[in-house]
Amino acid sequence: MLNNSSIPNSIYRYNIVFYLIAFFLLLLPILTGCFSVQNELQKGSNQPYYVLPPEMSKENENQKLMNSAKPLFFGKKFFLDPGHGGEDRKSVGVNKRVVEADINLAVALELRKYLADAGADVILSRDKDTTIALSDRSELANKSGADFFISIHHNAPGRYGDEWIDYTSTYYHGKDTNYEYTPMCQDIARYVQRDLSYALRTSGGPGSFDGTYSDYNIYPGEGFSVLRKTKIPAILVECAFFTNAYQEEKLAIREYNRLEAFGIFRGLFRYLKSGYPVWKNPVIERTNDSVAVTLHAEDSLGIVETSVKVFVNKKEIHTFDFNKAQKNLHIILRPADENPMIIRVEARNKNGNYSYPIELKIDNILLK
Ligand SMILES: [Zn+2]
Repeated sequence: MLNNSSIPNSIYRYNIVFYLIAFFLLLLPILTGCFSVQNELQKGSNQPYYVLPPEMSKENENQKLMNSAKPLFFGKKFFLDPGHGGEDRKSVGVNKRVVEADINLAVALELRKYLADAGADVILSRDKDTTIALSDRSELANKSGADFFISIHHNAPGRYGDEWIDYTSTYYHGKDTNYEYTPMCQDIARYVQRDLSYALRTSGGPGSFDGTYSDYNIYPGEGFSVLRKTKIPAILVECAFFTNAYQEEKLAIREYNRLEAFGIFRGLFRYLKSGYPVWKNPVIERTNDSVAVTLHAEDSLGIVETSVKVFVNKKEIHTFDFNKAQKNLHIILRPADENPMIIRVEARNKNGNYSYPIELKIDNILLK
C-alpha cells in the first residue's frame, strides 16, 4: 500500500509550477496576437459578406411585412430614378467589378418588385441601360402624377483615391432656412436612411447626425438638379461606396442589391406607417375686402397646432385660424401687389411628419 505521506511536498509544488508555466505558454500566443482573429471578410473563407434580415430570409416574416405594408402602399405612386446609364457609365468600382449605373438600376428593379408586391404603382425613369438627361428625369416625374420621387445612386469620395471611406447617405433639397426646402422630403430621407443603413450595417457618415444631408452641402444654393427640378416629394439615396473594395464585392452580388432595395422599402413602409397630413378640399370665398381660404387637414394622428405655417408669395403670414378638433384651417388674405398669389401651407402631425406640399394659386383680381 502506498502511503501518501511518503511523497515529499515539494513534488506537489513542482507540479503546480509546471501547470502554471504550461498555462501561461498556451496563453502567450493569444496575448501577443499570434492567433489573430480570422478575417471573416477574407476571400476563400466561409463567412458571408452580409446577413439577410428575417423579413428576407423567412417566408412567414416576409408575409407579415407585406400584409401590413399593403394597406399603406395601395394607391400610392412611386417614381424611381436609377442614376446615370447609357452614355454615362464612367463611375466604376475600385476593382472594376461594378459600374455605378448598373447597380443603381439593379437596386431600382428590386425596389420596383417590393413596391409592386405591396400594391403601389411604380414608374421608372429607365428600366435598362439608356441615356436620360437630368432635366428629363424631373420632367418625367412631374408629369407622372407620382407621390414620391426616389433617385438611386452609389457613392465615391470627393477626395480621389480614398478607398477606405464607406457609408450610406440620403439627400433632400435645400435647407430649412430657405423657401426651397420642403420639410416632408427630409422626413422621408430620415426613414429611408435609417432603415437602409440598418439593413446594410453601414453608418450614416461623419457629416450628419442621422445620415441625411441637404444637397446644398454638395452644391451650395443649388443642390442636385433632380431634387431641385422635381416638384413632388423627392429624395436621393447614396446607398454605399463602390470605391471601397469590400463594399464593391458586395455590390456585385444581386442578392445584396435586393437587400439594398429592402432597406429602402422598409424605410418607406415605416414612413407611411407613421403618417403625414394631407391638406384637402380648398374652398375659396370672396368677402367685402378680403378672400377667405378654408382647407381641411386629413391626418389620423392629429396636427401639432403650433406647427401650422402659411406662406403667401414666399412670405410667412399669420392671418389664419386653425381649428384643432375639426382640423380646419381658415386663412384670410388681404390685397397684395403680386399677382397671382401663391399660398403654401405646412403642418406636422404628432409623429413629427410634415404635410404633403400644397400650393394654391389665387388670382389677385378676386381681392379687388
Ligand atoms: Zn451617381
